[in-house]
Amino acid sequence: MCFFVHGIFNLVDLPTHANSGIRFIRADLSGRPMIRASYCQVVDSALATTLGVPGATISTVEHLLAALAGLGIDNARVEVWGPELPILDGSAAPFVRLLRRAGVRALRAPRTYCVIHQALEVVEGDKSIRVEPAWEPCLSYAIDFPHPLIGRQQLSFRMRSEKFCREIAPARTFGFLKDVQALQAQGLALGGSLDNALVLTKAGLLNPDGLRFRDEFVRHKILDVIGDLALWGWPLHGHIRVTKGSHALHHRFLEVLSQRPQTWRLSTLGWPSGTPAEGGLSAPARLKLALA
Ligand SMILES: [Zn+2]
Repeated sequence: MCFFVHGIFNLVDLPTHANSGIRFIRADLSGRPMIRASYCQVVDSALATTLGVPGATISTVEHLLAALAGLGIDNARVEVWGPELPILDGSAAPFVRLLRRAGVRALRAPRTYCVIHQALEVVEGDKSIRVEPAWEPCLSYAIDFPHPLIGRQQLSFRMRSEKFCREIAPARTFGFLKDVQALQAQGLALGGSLDNALVLTKAGLLNPDGLRFRDEFVRHKILDVIGDLALWGWPLHGHIRVTKGSHALHHRFLEVLSQRPQTWRLSTLGWPSGTPAEGGLSAPARLKLALA
């Protein structure tokens, strides 16, 4: 769940070279501090994923990171005028449209994958995230909310750009009206509205246009985990299974993975259909938003 006021000018610029990764620049601050898109830079993962360096943070990075990962963009410089990325409609679809308009190009370097060769699991109560070796990268997510529109939802997804753009990117973030009201009472989530999130009442949905998918909720969780795991820096080649995950659990998993290097290795030969090159943008992509 993530509801934030937005209204910043944001720009995704050309990468200078392959292997530079995704970097955020706080263009509004003196010295234009740079924050790498890395799990090592996570400073908060309560409601959304926030990255930071001393004196600068950037929050709600997960939907843009998912869009970049879904389109195979490994290198980009993201200039942001403000402390958070725009929530837009609560999904990654607007970022996908923006990035596709700019175009994706292959760079002169093979993509490096993180190949899982030993299972690893992180369990916290009834929540868990597990990765195991697989022929093809796959994500399975299960959620269980005692709500008539959600209940138990489970979905497995094999990453393909077209499929990601069609089936995962449009899924919106969601929250419960009582939680939104409690957050707003604390001065948080003031920008939360029916335009940027699905808002659930006790038994129904406030959004008049309804759901984009019957299981939009679990699709959004897949979107979140794609964005959060992009902070690993290399696409994970394994089967990732998440039960009742959260940004905090996704982040904890990457910390544990970094402490268990015996469970994975880096390879440029990780994809069954060949070795795609690293991806970058063909042209700058700019997004201008009115201040909220
Ligand atoms: Zn989200």
